[in-house]
Amino acid sequence: AKPRVVVIGGGAGGATAARYLAKDSAGALDVTLIEANPVYTTCFFSNLYLGGFRDFESLQHGYDTIAAGGVTVITDMATGVDRTAKTVTLAGGQTVPYDRLILSPGIDFRDGAVPGWTAEDHAEIMPHAYKAGPQTQLLKSMVESMPQGGTFAMIAPPNPYRCPPGPYERVSMVAHLLKQTNPTAKILVLDPKENFSKKALFEEGWGKHYDGMISWVGPEFGGGAVEVRPDTMEIVVEGEVQKVDVCNVIPAQIAGKIAAIAGVTDESGWAPVHPDSMKTKADENVYVLGDSSAQGDMPKSGYSANSQAKVAAMSIRGELLGSKVFPAKYSNTCWSLIAPDDGVKVGASYEPTPEKIASVESFISATGEDAALRKGTYEESLGWYSGITADMFG
Ligand code: FAD
Repeated sequence: AKPRVVVIGGGAGGATAARYLAKDSAGALDVTLIEANPVYTTCFFSNLYLGGFRDFESLQHGYDTIAAGGVTVITDMATGVDRTAKTVTLAGGQTVPYDRLILSPGIDFRDGAVPGWTAEDHAEIMPHAYKAGPQTQLLKSMVESMPQGGTFAMIAPPNPYRCPPGPYERVSMVAHLLKQTNPTAKILVLDPKENFSKKALFEEGWGKHYDGMISWVGPEFGGGAVEVRPDTMEIVVEGEVQKVDVCNVIPAQIAGKIAAIAGVTDESGWAPVHPDSMKTKADENVYVLGDSSAQGDMPKSGYSANSQAKVAAMSIRGELLGSKVFPAKYSNTCWSLIAPDDGVKVGASYEPTPEKIASVESFISATGEDAALRKGTYEESLGWYSGITADMFG
C-alpha cells in the first residue's frame, strides 16, 4: 500500500501541503485532506472587504482543484487523534489511518481572555471576525448600520496572534468606510501592547487620511484590561463605563483545538516544532504548520503557513519516498492597506537555526514614502493574493 499522509485543516498551510504532497509525489502517496468547511474564506484581504475594496466572493476558495489533483478531500471535523494507533477520528464517526499527520488548524481563542466575552455566547453581538466567513460579514453590516457619530471599539489582542498588522489594517479600512458614510464617527482601539506591527506607518497614515477619527489607547491608560458587557453594548476601561455602537473583540489566541487534543501543544497553547522541518517536538510522525506552530521569528500569516507547508511536504516526501530534501528556507511579507492606493509592507526571509526559525534579512516600508511607491506596494499585494491563493487551492 502507498504511504498515507493525512492533513487536518484546509486553510493556508494545510491546502498548500496537501496540494504539494500530491503534485510532487506523482501518485506515490495517499494524501487525505480533512477540512470542516466545504469552502474556505481567506482572512487575508478580509479587511479589504470591510473597506469596500473586494467583494465577499473574491475571498472564497473551494477544494475541487485540490481533489482533482489526487487528494482525497473529506468535509468533516476531526475530533480525535490517537498517536499510538496513528489514526484520526472524525465527527461523522470515520477513522482515518496515517503514516504522517499534518495539523494546520489555525487558531482558537483563549478562554476568559476578555472578561465578559466568550466566543460561544457573544460573537454574534461583539464579533471577532478573526476567522473569516459569517463573522466578517456580520462585522461589516454592523459598521454600515452604526448611528451617525457613533463609536466603533476594537479590543486588540496580546502577542502572539494571527496576522500582527491585521487589527490595524482593519482599523484603517473601517475608518475608510466611515469617512464616506459616517464622517463624525469615532474609532477607539484598546490595546494591551505598547507597540504593534508597522505602528509608525499606521499612525502616520491615520493622521493623514483619518485625522481625529482614531484614538489608540495603549496599556498605560487601561488598553490592556478591558471588560466588555455585550448585553448593554458597554466597555469598561479603568473603571469607567462607556457605551459603544460596535465592538470588535479580538481575544488572545492559542493553537486550533485539535492540536491540543493531539497532545502536541505546550503550556503556551502553541505547538513547538523543529525549525528545519515543521515536525513537532512531541511526535516524529506529526507536523504542525501555520498559526498553530511555535517556530520562532515568523509571524502567524498565510504567507508563512504557505512557506512552511512546502518545507514540511518536502521533509515528508524525503522520509516516505526517499526523495531529496533541500535545506529549509522560508519567507514572509505582510502587506497592509491604509487608504486607497496607500499600501505598506513588512517582510523577511528566514532560515532554521538549532533553536528556532530565525529572521535573516528583513525589510519594511518607510514613513514619508511618495504616493507612487505606496500605490506600487498595494498593486504588489494584489498580485500576491492571486498568486498565493492559486498556489494553495489551484
Ligand atoms: P487557517 O488558514 O485558519 O486554516 C485552518 C483550517 O483548519 C480552517 O479552514 C478550519 O476550518 C480548519 N480546521 C480547524 N480545526 C479543524 C478540525 N478539527 N477538523 C477539520 N478542519 C479543521 N496573512 C497573510 O499572509 N497576509 C495577510 O494579508 C493577512 N491578513 C489577515 C487579515 C486578518 C483580518 C486576519 C484575521 C488574518 C490575516 N492573515 C494574513 C493571517 C492568515 O489568515 C493566517 O495566518 C493563515 O490563515 C494561517 O493559516 P493556517 O493554515 O494556520 O490556518
